[in-house]
Amino acid sequence: MLEDKNQEKTSLAKLGEFGLINHLTKHFKMHHSSTVKGVGDDAAVISSSNKEIIITTDLLVEGVHFDLSYMPLKHLGYKAVMVNLSDVYAMNATAEQITVSIAVSNRFPLEAIEELYAGIQLACDTYKVDLIGGDTTSSTKGMLISITAIGSAKKEDIVYRNGAKPTDLIVVSGDLGGAYLGLQVLEREKQVFQVNPQSQPDLDNYTYIIERQLKPEARKDIPILLKELEVKPTSMIDISDGLSSEIMHICTQSKTGCKIYEDKLPLDPQVIATSEEFNMDSTMIALSGGEDYELLFTVSIDDYDKIKGNPNLSVIGHITEENEGMNLVTRANQEIELKAQGWNSLQE
Ligand SMILES: [Mg+2]
Repeated sequence: MLEDKNQEKTSLAKLGEFGLINHLTKHFKMHHSSTVKGVGDDAAVISSSNKEIIITTDLLVEGVHFDLSYMPLKHLGYKAVMVNLSDVYAMNATAEQITVSIAVSNRFPLEAIEELYAGIQLACDTYKVDLIGGDTTSSTKGMLISITAIGSAKKEDIVYRNGAKPTDLIVVSGDLGGAYLGLQVLEREKQVFQVNPQSQPDLDNYTYIIERQLKPEARKDIPILLKELEVKPTSMIDISDGLSSEIMHICTQSKTGCKIYEDKLPLDPQVIATSEEFNMDSTMIALSGGEDYELLFTVSIDDYDKIKGNPNLSVIGHITEENEGMNLVTRANQEIELKAQGWNSLQE
């Protein structure tokens, strides 16, 4: 995409840093009264009222966290925002502001950075968050993106990882494993393309899982839904590294064990079909595939009637005493100890 020779490209040096920041941010709208001052002074100003402030940050490095040969820059901008908002929602909080810092090498013209910012802006508009600052600088090689998200919540609404209790139900939003398999499909197509640049990939059977990889959506709706249902989770985390390692964070911090039931794991039919095609175990992918950005939480068993049958939520197990360990109950009714395998462990 960056190799398109027909289009005029503008070098970043022409604009200068402040010209570039102004150029990139002038069309961003503000959505929150808590944003007192955004871009344009030495620092942003946020009014905190009587709520707690939630802050999270994430650094993405080209070649480590993303590959621009199949990740369009607009998608990358969108996803970089999602990764951060997901952490805010995992605290049962509202995301309100972001700062965006980028470092780019001189292989990126202005038009490429504009694409990146188009994705960031789409995310800001869709999720109603305000871009309030950041930094742009040059790198000797590749691109780095660092985003900080700021949110707020009433003290009594915030949900931490350490509140799960034995008998609590373990619940997950959406479905699992799609983002990881989407990445496998994109990697395969990249290799085919390297051998035969004329090849036209047919990706019709993979649209859902590719979208899960390239354009994930943070679950802003889940804290809102839970409030409507009058359910406050006892613990919560977002699934960035795979279900297994996330439930282990909850159990370790809550000093509990857990039982997860294999037959309860929510899998999209495309995940099942593609796992078979890749000769991979879909349960393994749900447990260890990453980047789904769903929310994993625990609720008191007394709240079961309020969440039961909700199409957005699956009850996948329950919390146990710590000495019972962290286990997966298979379809054959065998108990296997859960292992903390991040999604990288699935790759050779
Ligand atoms: Mg997280």
